[in-house]
Amino acid sequence: MPRIHVSAPRDGAAGKFPREFALFQAMNTDGLDEQALAKYADAGVVKELAGKSSPVAFEDFAQAVKMPSQAQDAEGDGNTLGWAARDKTGTLAPLMFNRRELGDLDVFLQIAYAGVCHSDLHTIRAEWGQPKYPVVPGHEIVGFVAEVGPKVTKFKVGDRAGVGVFVDSCKECRQCKGKDERYCPKLVQTYNSMHYDGIQAQGGYSTHIISNEDYTLHVPDNLDLTRVAPLLCAGITVYTPLVEQGLNKPGKKVGVVGLGGLGHMAVKLAAAMGAEVTVLSRSKAKEAEALAMGAKHLLVSSDEESLKQAEKTFDGIIDTVSAKHDLNAELRLLAPHGKLVVVGLPPAPVEIDHRLLITSGRSLAGSMIGNLATTQEMLNFCGEHNVMCDVEVITMAYINEAMHRLEEGDVRFRFVIDINKSLAL
Ligand code: NAP
Ligand code: ZN
Repeated sequence: MPRIHVSAPRDGAAGKFPREFALFQAMNTDGLDEQALAKYADAGVVKELAGKSSPVAFEDFAQAVKMPSQAQDAEGDGNTLGWAARDKTGTLAPLMFNRRELGDLDVFLQIAYAGVCHSDLHTIRAEWGQPKYPVVPGHEIVGFVAEVGPKVTKFKVGDRAGVGVFVDSCKECRQCKGKDERYCPKLVQTYNSMHYDGIQAQGGYSTHIISNEDYTLHVPDNLDLTRVAPLLCAGITVYTPLVEQGLNKPGKKVGVVGLGGLGHMAVKLAAAMGAEVTVLSRSKAKEAEALAMGAKHLLVSSDEESLKQAEKTFDGIIDTVSAKHDLNAELRLLAPHGKLVVVGLPPAPVEIDHRLLITSGRSLAGSMIGNLATTQEMLNFCGEHNVMCDVEVITMAYINEAMHRLEEGDVRFRFVIDINKSLAL
């Protein structure tokens, strides 16, 4: 396969061409594969680069593969291009907005991929209440560090890094002091939130993000970056209760309700931890995929006979369902002392038959995403066990259609937006 050799950027050049630098970092393994490069630049450009004397200077490479800017077509002013929802139809369209300047402890993360979480959809459609429109969603973010502030010690330019569901917390409350930042009352979420400096926090459906190094995660080198972004929300949200509830051990019988973005990660992670996993899904059609992910069984949630047989057998169940449904049917499946952990967040409350808890000492818990240290631990675990998400890679132009398909449950198993291929300033 013909390859083009490009010299590493000189000081400052990476920051001047962050997107092109991210491409260089992503593709440069003993040169750049011409075919892979053709995905980002037209055939004439690739030919021109191949014809240059080797190695090609980074600046020449960057100029050649630079995409036309879409900034002039976007609404608004600012230093960042993203796609935002402006009202409860949730329709996403280009927006220019401002991110803060790079601070002493900040990294400039050039976003390569952003996962599409059902929470993005709940938020932009105002299903959880009125959001701060315009909202640029996206809290499953991975990319390359293109610049670092002068006091940053944890990252260097070129590192693969990620940002998840929150980007700051107060550092003073009991939760923050106990390294349980996710429950900080002043938590700054990645989007639909305000930074402490008064700037509106906007998410990862955008060219780049400025992130404090303490709220930025390292992505293990062996994981395919295309398949990593959803770990930052879907992965950590199910990893945390599996560990906290002691379900991360061989022999534990674990049920996973709903085989979507969170559910499929719960199956893969629990299986990698050695648990015996059963999927509860509305759809028998997902059985082969569930087994390929490491599940041992799939039960169809409308099949009352199978559910009856499975009563009192599970040590734990992780419920990831995005719409209102019956939790009592799940409680019945728990063995004595079994635990049902709800992570799915349908907008309306549900009714619980407390007798199902009392008569078998069962417990019902909820859990929100995960803390910073646990998120890094989860990413490292995925690196060690080669756990990655099953994704459908899309460009930004497809996002409104993708949201519609997510609503219909028609995704296997996470949409991931290829930002590099979609957006340029
Ligand atoms: P998703 O990909 O859409 O998956 C949800 C799954 O729920 C679907 O694949 C489907 O599985 C099942 N489902 C959907 N509608 C249903 C219905 N009417 N009745 C029964 N089952 C139904 O969504 P996701 O991104 O995984 O997110 C799932 C939920 O978790 C969302 O509410 C999201 O906001 C929430 N969430 C919570 C946290 C947290 O910190 N707790 C973090 C992230 C997301 P089957 O087709 O297999 O039945
Ligand atoms: Zn999410």
